[in-house]
Amino acid sequence: MRALIIEAPENILIREVEDPVVETEDDVLIRVSACGICGTDIHIYRGLESAKYPVIPGHEFCGVVEQVGKNAARSLKAGDRVIVDPNLSCFQCAPCRDGKVNHCVNGMINQGVNLNGGYAEFASVNVKQCYRIPNDLSDEVAMLGEPLSCVLHGVDKVSINPSERVVIFGGGPIGVLIYKYLHSIMGLSDVSIVEINENRISAAKEVGVERIDSEPLCQEADIVFEASGSLKAFEKALRILSAGGRVVQFGVPPEDATAQLSLYDIYRKEISIIGSFVNPFTMSRAVKLLVTHQKTFSGIAGRCCSPEEAASILRGEISTSGFLKGVVKFQEES
Ligand SMILES: [Zn+2]
Ligand SMILES: [Zn+2]
Repeated sequence: MRALIIEAPENILIREVEDPVVETEDDVLIRVSACGICGTDIHIYRGLESAKYPVIPGHEFCGVVEQVGKNAARSLKAGDRVIVDPNLSCFQCAPCRDGKVNHCVNGMINQGVNLNGGYAEFASVNVKQCYRIPNDLSDEVAMLGEPLSCVLHGVDKVSINPSERVVIFGGGPIGVLIYKYLHSIMGLSDVSIVEINENRISAAKEVGVERIDSEPLCQEADIVFEASGSLKAFEKALRILSAGGRVVQFGVPPEDATAQLSLYDIYRKEISIIGSFVNPFTMSRAVKLLVTHQKTFSGIAGRCCSPEEAASILRGEISTSGFLKGVVKFQEES
């Protein structure tokens, strides 16, 4: 099959590789129909400690089941359409047994990071990672399953009251998904996005984000989602929080980033700083939301890319600010 491979940091090739196969009873071979391009893929290209090279990136994918192992056949058959959760924990270690599967210490599988992912014609996954979807859910919406499941985990970590004021820093796909979930589905009226890039602002407006600007649209917020990974944004988030406010660190900051914050404000204003990492047990809910609110989420993954264009995006030769999420397809359109 054809695949995009990051052989080592700063080294991408699109080439023929051996097809993945069903090796164990739990394996499912998937014909990948669409795979989202994520900022993490760019981090892997530049060199990421948790990545295992060479690797086929891509952790946001959906496809059609091609072949199943004996045990997988109990829940899936050839022809079924599925969304894949790229993360699989051991369910044996102490954190896993405490329900913190995203903190598994026995080498959690992150397909597309430490194991081959979806930038290819086929991918092999475990049946536990597959979520069946109906035929009328488009690929472009279905492949938002993983990012949306991460959003749900972050939102779960702050119990939000519908009357609260929410500001999101970062108008990329994650920021827009948080906005859509809180505003269009949960019905919060006071949600806005801060985004400094004009092209990103236009792209977000095109998919129906009404409240987005380069400066916060309100003086004070009860909850801030930091979804840009910028240190400046995090520090600003703390400054606009009201008493009792919470900030959720969602964006991936540089590994050595350290912030300046007022300890006195944290004490006096009773501020909470909350981290959110991947998607423990939220995938099933994300899939149901995509099925029931397909229209709300359409248009976000609007830019179709050839494998060659995807490689250019990872290398930074094509700017991603003019669109929200790119989608790479290796299969010919049928
Ligand atoms: Zn991602
Ligand atoms: Zn574990």
